[in-house]
Amino acid sequence: MNLARQIEQYLPRQLLELVRDISGQAAKRGQRVYLVGGVVRDLFLGYPNFDLDLVVEGDAVKLAQQVAESSQANLLAHRRFGTAKLRYEDFTLDMATARKETYAEPGALPAVTPGTLKDDLLRRDFSINAMAISLAANDYGELVDPYQGKNDLERRLIRILHSESFSDDATRILRAVRYQQRLCFELEAQTAQLLKRDIPMLDTISGDRIRHELELIFKEKQPEFVINRLGELGVLQGINPFLKGGGWIAEKFDRARRLKKPTQLPSLYFCLLIYSFSETGVEQFLARLNITAKLSRAIRDTLRLKTKLPLLGKSPLKPSEIYYLLREYESVAVQANAIASDTSMVHHHLQLFLTKLRYVRTSLDGEELKRLGISAGPEMGKVLQVLHKAKLDGEVRTKDDEKKLALSLSLKLER
Ligand code: ATP
Ligand code: MG
Repeated sequence: MNLARQIEQYLPRQLLELVRDISGQAAKRGQRVYLVGGVVRDLFLGYPNFDLDLVVEGDAVKLAQQVAESSQANLLAHRRFGTAKLRYEDFTLDMATARKETYAEPGALPAVTPGTLKDDLLRRDFSINAMAISLAANDYGELVDPYQGKNDLERRLIRILHSESFSDDATRILRAVRYQQRLCFELEAQTAQLLKRDIPMLDTISGDRIRHELELIFKEKQPEFVINRLGELGVLQGINPFLKGGGWIAEKFDRARRLKKPTQLPSLYFCLLIYSFSETGVEQFLARLNITAKLSRAIRDTLRLKTKLPLLGKSPLKPSEIYYLLREYESVAVQANAIASDTSMVHHHLQLFLTKLRYVRTSLDGEELKRLGISAGPEMGKVLQVLHKAKLDGEVRTKDDEKKLALSLSLKLER
C-alpha cells in the first residue's frame, strides 16, 4: 500500500520538506529512513500528530549531526542509545537507529543491538504503533506493516505483538489502557487475558517508570476514563492496594479540568487520586512511585488540610482567619480540597483564599514606612503584619488609610 499522497496532505509543508531532505541525505550515506509509530497510526486515523519519529537503518546519530550542520536545527544526541533529537523553531523530530531488543529478565532494561526496521517494529508495544512508512526515494510512501497494525486499526483493537510483551515491560499494561480509552478501542481478547495475567509484573517496574506512565495518563483529555478502566481491570491495585477509580474520581477530575485557572492539572490529579488514603497508604504511594519532593509536599498537605476542614466550615470566619489557617499549605493542596469538599461553606472559604486572599498585599512597603519614621526591624515587621491583617479584613482600603493606621501603631509601639 502506498501512502505518498496521504503524507503530502497530512504533514505541514515545512515538515514534509524537512523529512525529504533528511531522507535524501540518508540515501547518500547508503541509509534508509522511515516514519514510525504514533504519526503513522494518527495519519490513518486522521488525527494531527506532528511529533515525528524517524527510524534509520544505519547510524541515526551521525545522520542527525549531518542534518543539524546543514540546517538551523539544535541537536541533542544520545550516542549510547543511538538516538538524536533535532529541535527546530516550531517542532522537534526524533531520530533513532533501528534496533533489536532482548530482555534478560522481566522489567529489566533491554539489551540493545543495531537491527533492521522489522526488528525495530517487533520491539514496539502494540500493532497499531508498529507500522512504518518508507521515505526512501525508490519506494517513497510504502507502508511497512508486518504485524497487521492497519487491520487492527480498522477493527479498533489494541493488540500486543507477542505473549511475553507485558511481562517484558509491564508499563505496556498502562499504555494499553491509555490508548484503548483515548481511541475508544477494545483490548483484543488474548491481549486482555495476558494483561490481567501479568498485572503482578508491575512489581518489576521502577517507581520512576510507573510515575511517568501515570503522568502520561494525566495528559490525556479525560484521564478519569483511563483510571476507571485500570481500576476495573485490577491494575490500580497492582500499583497500590488503596488506589481505585470510580464515580467520585471521575466527577472530581472533571471538576479539576473545568477550573478557569487549574494551578497545575497533573499535580491536582495526583492529590485527588490519593484523597481517600490513610497516612500510611500515602507514604507507601509516595515511596513506590518515587514522587518528587515538591509533589510529595502537595500530596501530604492535601491530607493534612483535609483533617482541618471542619475549622473552615464555621461561619462567620474573618478573611484573616481563613488566610492564617491556609497560608501554610501548598496551593495545589488547597485547590484539591476545594474540589473534594462537598460542604458549601468550606468550599467557599477555600475558594476565597485561592482567588483573593492569598494575593492581598499592603500598599505601603518598607521604604514608605521608613519615610513615615518607622524603623526597620521588629517594629516594622509588626506594623506590616497588622496592616496586612487590616487589609485582609477590609478595615483599611486606601493607601491613606494604611498610613494613618501605621502612624497610630508606631505611636503605640513607642510607648
Ligand atoms: P502518543 O500520541 O501517545 O505520543 P506515540 O505512539 O507517539 O503516541 P510515544 O510514547 O511517543 O508514543 O512513543 C513512540 C513509539 O515508541 C510508540 O509508538 C511505540 O511504538 C514505541 N514505544 C513507546 N513506549 C514503548 C514501550 N514501553 N514498549 C514498546 N514500545 C514503546
Ligand atoms: Mg509521541
